[in-house]
Amino acid sequence: MHKPMAKRTPLRNVRAFRSAILGWFHEQGRDYPWRRTTDPYAILVSEIMLQQTTVAAVLQNRRFERFLATFPDLATLATASEAELLREWEGLGYYNRVRNLQKTARVVLAEHNGRFPSDPILLATLPGIGRYTAGAVASFAFDRSTPIVDANIARVLTRLFNHRAPIDTTESRHQLWSWADNLVPPQNARAFNSAVMELGQTHCSARVPACLDCPVHDFCSTRNPASLPTKKPKRKTMEVIEHVLFIQKRNGSILLAQEGGSRRNGLWKLPERSHHQVADFPHLATRKYSITHHRVTLHIHRCPTSQVPPKPVNSIEQFHSPQALAALPMASPFRQALLALMERKR
Ligand code: SF4
Repeated sequence: MHKPMAKRTPLRNVRAFRSAILGWFHEQGRDYPWRRTTDPYAILVSEIMLQQTTVAAVLQNRRFERFLATFPDLATLATASEAELLREWEGLGYYNRVRNLQKTARVVLAEHNGRFPSDPILLATLPGIGRYTAGAVASFAFDRSTPIVDANIARVLTRLFNHRAPIDTTESRHQLWSWADNLVPPQNARAFNSAVMELGQTHCSARVPACLDCPVHDFCSTRNPASLPTKKPKRKTMEVIEHVLFIQKRNGSILLAQEGGSRRNGLWKLPERSHHQVADFPHLATRKYSITHHRVTLHIHRCPTSQVPPKPVNSIEQFHSPQALAALPMASPFRQALLALMERKR
């Protein structure tokens, strides 16, 4: 869509710009559960949850409310076992997020008397909290006048300023934060940052920007919003094939392996073996899932308990009863595969 050039710019008319977007947000801003609180702990939970998980997915299953019901404060989160933690986070993926959340709860209790600092520089020293999250907690919980730039705000800013360079470079990031810093008002940063973010989720969406109805249309410099932002060429997706075994004893218990590595450490899955080790076992099912830039094809094979091939060195494998499975933390693709296999056996 092509639109006329702006008559005003956000920076030269900063008061009018703030007033236009705040007026719109005041009337039409959405009511999310995390916008009804100024508790920094709850806001941090929402921010961490919304990294790499969509608002719709978090809202749909009341994940935010459920997490706070299980871990209502820093103390309950700080003392939770890893299994409880991972179980509560199941389905949201990127499990290091919740591990860091627990580390942050422990640091705030031990080093800040259980009170979150309001200074974004101090917040950014907490585990797993980067510049964006620090700014979000500082502005949403404490109304500190501090900028934030997430994907939605970056899109709005690149279009407002007609920034055509790829946004995933150090120079562009610096430029976006600088614009955000100049635009955020001395008071009411909470509403202002929420408003720009929401504009990116609604009118200034990635595919079909609704410029004619946009509250800051008069300040926007791009003529071709759908072409922005630009990014550097993408990293290629890698195809991965995984072979796992479904091994069940007569009493119903199932052999599971505990995952290592940095991403899914501590989660349980069906035990993995090489292509050669599974060659003689009947194929049960195939499932596909994606993780970061990997597209995984998961082949599941039935294996008798008497013929389990040797496990990889250092891996932990144990039989678990069907009743115990619900409490075990498990990545979604394996949970779904197991449920389908058990359902099939009934
Ligand atoms: S919706 Fe259109 S007019 Fe509004 S900021 Fe985005 S590109 Fe500019």
